[in-house]
Amino acid sequence: MDLLKVLSRGIKKSAKPEKSLAPPPKPTNPQLYTDFTIRGTKRKADEALTQTASAADDNVDFFAPKEPTKPVPAPTDDEEKPAKKQATSAPPPMSHDEIYQILKGHKLKFTILSSQVEKKTKVKKSKKKDKKKQKVEAKAADAKQSLYPRPLTSFNELKGTYNVSARLVANLAEHGYRLPTEVQMGSLPLLLNPKSAVADTLDDADHVNFLAVAPTGSGKTLSFLIPTLNRILSQRKKSQEKGNKQSLDAIVLAPTRELAHQIANEGQKLAAGTGVKIVLFKKGMRVPAEASDIEVAQVSDNESDVDEEDKEKSEDESEDEATVSQAVTKADILVTTPMLLLNFLNREKTKKLLPTVRTLILDEGDVLLDELFREQTQGILAACTSESLQLMCFSATMGSNIETLLVQELEKRQQGGSSASPLVRLVVGLKDTAVKNIKHRLIYTGDNERGKLYTMRQLLHPTGTNEALPDMNLPFLVFVQTIDRATSLHDELKYEFPAEAGGSTRVAALHSSMSETARSKIIARFRAGEIWVLITTDLLMRGIDFRGVNGVINYDIPTSVAGYVHRVGRTARAGGAGDAVTMYTKEDIPFLRSIANVITLSEKQAGKDGNQDAVPKWLMDALPKVKKEDKQKLKKSGVESRRGTKAQITSKSAWERRRENNKKGAIAGSRRRGNEDHAGDESEGQESEWGGLD
Ligand code: ADP
Ligand code: MG
Repeated sequence: MDLLKVLSRGIKKSAKPEKSLAPPPKPTNPQLYTDFTIRGTKRKADEALTQTASAADDNVDFFAPKEPTKPVPAPTDDEEKPAKKQATSAPPPMSHDEIYQILKGHKLKFTILSSQVEKKTKVKKSKKKDKKKQKVEAKAADAKQSLYPRPLTSFNELKGTYNVSARLVANLAEHGYRLPTEVQMGSLPLLLNPKSAVADTLDDADHVNFLAVAPTGSGKTLSFLIPTLNRILSQRKKSQEKGNKQSLDAIVLAPTRELAHQIANEGQKLAAGTGVKIVLFKKGMRVPAEASDIEVAQVSDNESDVDEEDKEKSEDESEDEATVSQAVTKADILVTTPMLLLNFLNREKTKKLLPTVRTLILDEGDVLLDELFREQTQGILAACTSESLQLMCFSATMGSNIETLLVQELEKRQQGGSSASPLVRLVVGLKDTAVKNIKHRLIYTGDNERGKLYTMRQLLHPTGTNEALPDMNLPFLVFVQTIDRATSLHDELKYEFPAEAGGSTRVAALHSSMSETARSKIIARFRAGEIWVLITTDLLMRGIDFRGVNGVINYDIPTSVAGYVHRVGRTARAGGAGDAVTMYTKEDIPFLRSIANVITLSEKQAGKDGNQDAVPKWLMDALPKVKKEDKQKLKKSGVESRRGTKAQITSKSAWERRRENNKKGAIAGSRRRGNEDHAGDESEGQESEWGGLD
C-alpha cells in the first residue's frame, strides 16, 4: 500500500482528519427542478437565486449534526401575536397561470387519488364503449382529478399566509433552512391549510390525507413535521383556553430504529422552545392509551423486526413490568417502529387504543404497507380510532398496489364512520427514479467474488489508471446482501488504512444482529466523520441522512429497483452530488436489467446525453429480460450463492483457509461452532429488502 498516497488523500489535517475528507463545501440549492425558463416565473426564479446565493455565504459543514448557522433571537411576544404583522408579510396573490407554471417548473404533480380510483372503475365497467372512447374518458377523468394548490415559494410565507408559529419559523431559519425544497413547496400549503391552498375544490376539507412520492434526500421529513407541529401548537392554544389536558396527538412510524431516532432528533430540533414534546418510543415505555374490550388473540409471532438480543430483553422487561408499574411518558408526537408500538398495545389481555391520535405518518410508507410490515402498520392504524384521523404517507418509491391499499384502508375507515377527507397524492419529478445529481456506474467484476474485492480496493486507493472507476471521495457507504457478508467484508477491509491514518477505526460494519448501543455508537462515529467506510446491509438503505456521504458502493447488487433508488439515495442529499458504483458478476446479469433501466431513466431526467450514459446501449441490448416471478424471488432472497455463512467474502484461497482453520485447534473450533449456532440458519443471516431488521 502506498502510505503516502493514503495520508495525503485523507489526513492532511491530523488534528481534524475528518474535515479534510470532504471536498470543500459547495453551496447547494436544495431544489432539484428549477426550470427558470418557464413563462411567468421569472420573478420567483430571481427570488430563488438571491436566496440561494445568501445560503451559499454560510460555511456549510457537511458532516451532521448540523449546527445552527446564525443565532436567531426568540420571537418576542409581539411576534407571537401575529394578527397585525401578518397583513404586512402576506405575499401578493398568485394567478392560476403563475401557480401552474411554478408547479410545472418544479415538477410537482397533484392528484386526488380516492375519486380517481372510483372513476377508473366506472370507465372499466362500460364494456360496450369502444376502447378509444374509454381511453379519452379515462384521460378526462384523470385530468379532472388533478389539483393545482398554491405552492410555497419561501419559508417567509409560513408566518403570514399559513399562520405558522413564529418560534417554528425562527427554528427553521436557525437551522439554515432558507429555501423550501420541491416536496416542501408542494406539501406545506396543502397540509397547513387545504382550504386556502386550493379554494373551491377542497372547501369542505378540514384536512387532507396525503401521499407524497419525492426523491431521496429531498426534505420529506420537514414536510410532515412542520404541519404536525403547527397543528399541535394551534390546538394547544385553543385547548389551554378550555383547560384540556395534553394528550398523544401524532405518531410517526418508520421501518428502522435508526430512522425513527433520526426523525425524533430532527423533530426535537424543530420544536425547540415550542413546548411540544417529541418522544422516541423505547422498549418498556408506556404512552397514554385507552383500554378497549377487544381481546388480544395472540402475541404476534411475526417478530422479524426484533433483534435476537432485544427479544431477550423484552422478556426481562415484561417481567419487570409485572412488579413495577412504569410511569406513562408524556408525548405529543411519538416516533417509533411499528412492532415496538404494537407490542405495547397488545401487551396485556385486552388491546389498548390510541383515540387521541389525530395524525398518523408513515415515513417510508411503501415498505410499511408492504408484506413484512403490513399487519403491524394496519394494527396501529386500527388502534388510532379518532374519526378525524389524518393519514400521511411519504416515500421516494411507491408501487400502485400500495396506493390502492391506502385508498382501500381509508375507504374502510370512512365506512366505519370516519370523516370523508380526500386522499391527495403529490409526485415530485419522475416516480421511482434516483436523484438526478448522482453519477451512476455499473462495474463488471468478472465471474467470481475476487474481482469485487480487487475493485473495492481500487475504489479505496484510486490510481487514476482505471477509467471505468470514478475517483471517489471518502466517506463511503458499502452495501452487501447479508449480515455474514458485512462481517467478512469488514474483516477484509479493516486494515486498508495505515495506523497513522486511524487504521481499523476508519472501517466499520453495521447490521441488525449488533446491539442497539453498538449500532448507535457507529452511527454517531460515522456522522462525526470518524468512520470513513461503513459496510452495511439493507438496514441502512432507507431514510438515513448522512450528509457527508460522497459515495455509495453496491458491493452486492440491490434486490429490487426500490432497493437501488433508496441505497444510492444515501448520497447526493439536499441538492448535493454523489457517486454510485454497483458491482456485478456473472450471477447478477439476469437481474441487472431493471437496475440498468432505472439508471437510464434517472439520467434522462437529469438531461444527460447519450455519451455520458452509465448503461451503454450495447449493454442494455445484451441484458436478458427477466420473468416477474424471478424478480420477486430476487427481491425476497437475494442472489442465492451469497446467502448463508458459506458465502463470506475473503481474498484467501480455500486451501489457506482450511490450513488456518485446522491450526485453530479444538477450543477455537468449538467457540466458532457456538457462534455459528447463534447466527442461525441461512435465512437468519440474510437481510433481504427488509428482512431480519428492526
Ligand atoms: P428525505 O426524507 O426526503 O429523504 P430528509 O428529510 O432526510 O430527506 O432531508 C434530507 C436533508 O436535507 C437533511 O439533511 C435536511 O436537513 C436537508 N433539508 C431539508 N429541507 C431543506 C431545505 N429546505 N433546505 C436545505 N436543506 C434541507
Ligand atoms: Mg426521509
